[in-house]
Amino acid sequence: MEPRLPVDAARPGAYVIPAMAKLSIITAPDPRLKLKAKPVAKVDDRVRRLMQDMLETMYAAPGIGLAAPQVGEALRVIVVDCAREGEPPQPFKLANPELLWQSDELMTVNEGCLSLPEHYADVARPAEIKVRYLDAENEIRELHATGLLATCIQHEMDHLEGVLFVDHISSLKRGIILRKLAKAKRQKTPVPA
Ligand SMILES: [Zn+2]
Repeated sequence: MEPRLPVDAARPGAYVIPAMAKLSIITAPDPRLKLKAKPVAKVDDRVRRLMQDMLETMYAAPGIGLAAPQVGEALRVIVVDCAREGEPPQPFKLANPELLWQSDELMTVNEGCLSLPEHYADVARPAEIKVRYLDAENEIRELHATGLLATCIQHEMDHLEGVLFVDHISSLKRGIILRKLAKAKRQKTPVPA
């Protein structure tokens, strides 16, 4: 059986990181999660700062991936760390990630998302991918990702296109999840007097 693991919610092996969440995470439904993000011209100090803040926000959530549109920045920037419990952190900061290759073989993972808290669904995606991106030093790099890392990067790259994991499941299931999230949001928002 394929592994069933949450993607960017409920980090299974969160270690203690002495950092506070710096950015607030947007939850669905929200039009900002449906926008196509813009490429960064260059990974400069501002983008580096965003990457670091996103990473700290992700660890604090806790999650294993975060995309800039989830924190209200319509930029093509994602961060991921799929290290397991007991392993040292393996953070990746990617700007302008581009898919170079994907395997025909698929892998199904029970995905979650920090923007759809407490909801999970099985999503099948290519099991292996190759991506090209700019790292935190503005250097061009390539990464061959497999397993959970491959799933996580694809999930985060979807956010850059305004696509959520629920867009990969049936419209019936998607509707149920989005209605529950909308209701939860209404209950949190005070009714104007
Ligand atoms: Zn997500």
